[in-house]
Amino acid sequence: MSSKLFLPAVLFLLFCCAHPDRHFEIRDTSGMNWYRGNIHTHARECESDTSVDSVVNWYRNNGYQFLVITDHNVITFPPEYIMATDSFLLIPGEEITGFGNKIDVEINGLNIRTAILPLHADSVPGAYQKCIDAVRLQQGVPVFNHPNYKWRLNQSTILSCSNCNLFEVYNGFPGTFSEGDSIHPALEKVWDSLLSSGRRIYGVASDDAHSYTQFSVKVSNPGRGWVVVKSKSLEAREIMHNLDSGLFYSSTGVGIIDFIVQTAQIEIDIRESQNIEYTTDFIGSGGKLLFSTKKNPAIYKLSSEQHYVRARITDSEGHHAWLQPVFVVRKD
Ligand SMILES: [Zn+2]
Repeated sequence: MSSKLFLPAVLFLLFCCAHPDRHFEIRDTSGMNWYRGNIHTHARECESDTSVDSVVNWYRNNGYQFLVITDHNVITFPPEYIMATDSFLLIPGEEITGFGNKIDVEINGLNIRTAILPLHADSVPGAYQKCIDAVRLQQGVPVFNHPNYKWRLNQSTILSCSNCNLFEVYNGFPGTFSEGDSIHPALEKVWDSLLSSGRRIYGVASDDAHSYTQFSVKVSNPGRGWVVVKSKSLEAREIMHNLDSGLFYSSTGVGIIDFIVQTAQIEIDIRESQNIEYTTDFIGSGGKLLFSTKKNPAIYKLSSEQHYVRARITDSEGHHAWLQPVFVVRKD
């Protein structure tokens, strides 16, 4: 064994001796494929600059397998797309407005059948919880939308709410400040704080598109952020269940071929494009950078005590993929 291989092997053995009872949580993903979708976009006439049909066709023609149209406080769900075809599925949804002591907040309700009208509560956390509960009542999946938009949703509000496992770590609408500003943290930092506190929460990326005819950084266009969900089939309930439980990755342009978790190792096979470089950062408890590599596949071996490990891939053009956290659990 060369000295290059010897040191990591010794460190790994030392970790196993020191932490024999801890390992990565492994999910059974046998027989599953990846399905790309957008779960936050606007389509009807008063919320977009085109027709509902054109919006559906944009996503259908641009490499997506599913779409949730989330117009405000109404379900936009054209009947001709209700049935899944071999390659495309429309899932009903809505962006719900809540008012907490007259301050407006927004939650997405995915795979709900009946429109939820604006809900009122006497506090901002109360308004979020009321919206979440209304979505769960319909067996739908709630998402905290654009937490940094108007700085409505901070870490303590998320922690005070229950039953919502998803939040937008990236939203393509200008002014949603996913990266934070000089006084507010980036949403990735918020994510690490939530995960470090023990909260199981997953980061989604979405378009929040309103503009389909004029393309510019100043407007909200389709194709900026999406999710890729692992599922046995293109079926709404399974896609939604797997999204809600973290079997997906989010992206603004980086694709992966597979994400393989073993008891003490994470391996990511990145889908490479010509002349593009990829850097994978593995991040652990407290948002600490554990390991960074430009290799493909990117491999991380569990070598220190962590509550979770997540990975972010950045390409040389600035696009990202965010893998969902893998939790470290005790052996039974
Ligand atoms: Zn929206």
